[in-house]
Amino acid sequence: MRGRAVTFRADPFQDGPAAALVHEPDALIVIEDGHIAAFGPHDALRPTLPEGTPVTTYPRAVISAGFVDTHVHYPQLPMIAAYGEQLLEWLERYTFPTEARYADAGYAARVARRFLRELLRAGTTTAAVYCTVHPQSVDAFFTESARLDTRMVAGKVLMDRNAPDALRDTAQGGYDDSLALIDRWHGNGRQLYAVTPRFAATSTERQLDLAGSLLRQRDGLFMQTHLSENVAEVEWIRRLFPSRRSYLDVYAHAGLVGPRGVLGHGVHVDEDTFHTCHATGCAMAHCPTSNLFLGSGAFRLFDALDPRRPVRVGLGTDMGAGTSLSQLQTLNEAYKVAQSTGRRLHPVQAFWLATAGGARSLHLDDRIGTIAPGIEADLCVLDPYATPLMAQRAEECDTIEDLLFVLMMLGDDRSVRATYVAGALAHDRDHDPDHDRDAPPAE
Ligand SMILES: [Zn+2]
Repeated sequence: MRGRAVTFRADPFQDGPAAALVHEPDALIVIEDGHIAAFGPHDALRPTLPEGTPVTTYPRAVISAGFVDTHVHYPQLPMIAAYGEQLLEWLERYTFPTEARYADAGYAARVARRFLRELLRAGTTTAAVYCTVHPQSVDAFFTESARLDTRMVAGKVLMDRNAPDALRDTAQGGYDDSLALIDRWHGNGRQLYAVTPRFAATSTERQLDLAGSLLRQRDGLFMQTHLSENVAEVEWIRRLFPSRRSYLDVYAHAGLVGPRGVLGHGVHVDEDTFHTCHATGCAMAHCPTSNLFLGSGAFRLFDALDPRRPVRVGLGTDMGAGTSLSQLQTLNEAYKVAQSTGRRLHPVQAFWLATAGGARSLHLDDRIGTIAPGIEADLCVLDPYATPLMAQRAEECDTIEDLLFVLMMLGDDRSVRATYVAGALAHDRDHDPDHDRDAPPAE
């Protein structure tokens, strides 16, 4: 693949944007067996290719590693943009009734298909995904992801209290179902399993303990849950677990806090919580569109990334509380949230968060998130001229940083020209056979 490309050699929050960014104005990306075999200036690399090697050229585009979404709920696709509530009432009124429909495996398969197609249209090639309490919702998701060969992290929601009857499992039943799903899917091709207690309020202590023991059953398992999203929620957790020092301590006590753990939100947390995440390698998922939509508050990104004890932070859409599956749109809101806390999110830092930083937060940076030899060839081709307004603005750009900023402020799925999964073209905006046809409403 030939075109302008950006990737990262370091963390721009720690080392500065200039030291971190790799910008190749005319790059060649050599792809072999689903992996990147070589990356560098076109003129230097082209003579090394065997004669007749096909080269796809993307003029006026910016090629990036595929986006990494570290927190998203596929079953909520049909209820994105649900009016009027904050977190706990929103769960009660919209989320739980929607999630109850996933007892139907056929319904789950239809939404999973639609969701993964939307992710690819947004340039996202890896995501950490919540399914529902139903094991069939997980089978539906991984079946479709395996068909597409996308590298996905997902798991069955564990929820044995404070939820409607139709959405409750039991501590033991949830454990048994999760273990069977782990055996079926964890490490099956590119699929990875995440033990997924929804949040501390919907699991008994016994269920959280069993979730911790699940994590120890196989190597490389993930853990995802929610932490300190909303003030009323934090207060509820305090009442449910009076003997724990903090919200995070509820999870730590159950053995859930460590590498490959991903905590959604972390809006209302103290220094001690950041410190524990840093020390254990547990990540936080920053979900700005969701936090704004539900009026939850502002994540303190730059406090989390304090160089004295940086937390691993990824970017999450948190759709359906998040209002877009586009990481470009999510960066737009992340920039504004940072502004509201008096900080500036540099475009190089922003794109790192959405790619290499997300991969690092999931401890997957040896496999995805950058353009470099040996890394899996998940790529997106961004078009800064996607709309008349963007084209007009892009013409004014003198630097790659300026162009990236235009993409994150004005871009969305229209500016994703193509998405590649393991080296194969998985979405082509201008020749998308799926776009109008074959898109049944998720009913
Ligand atoms: Zn969430």
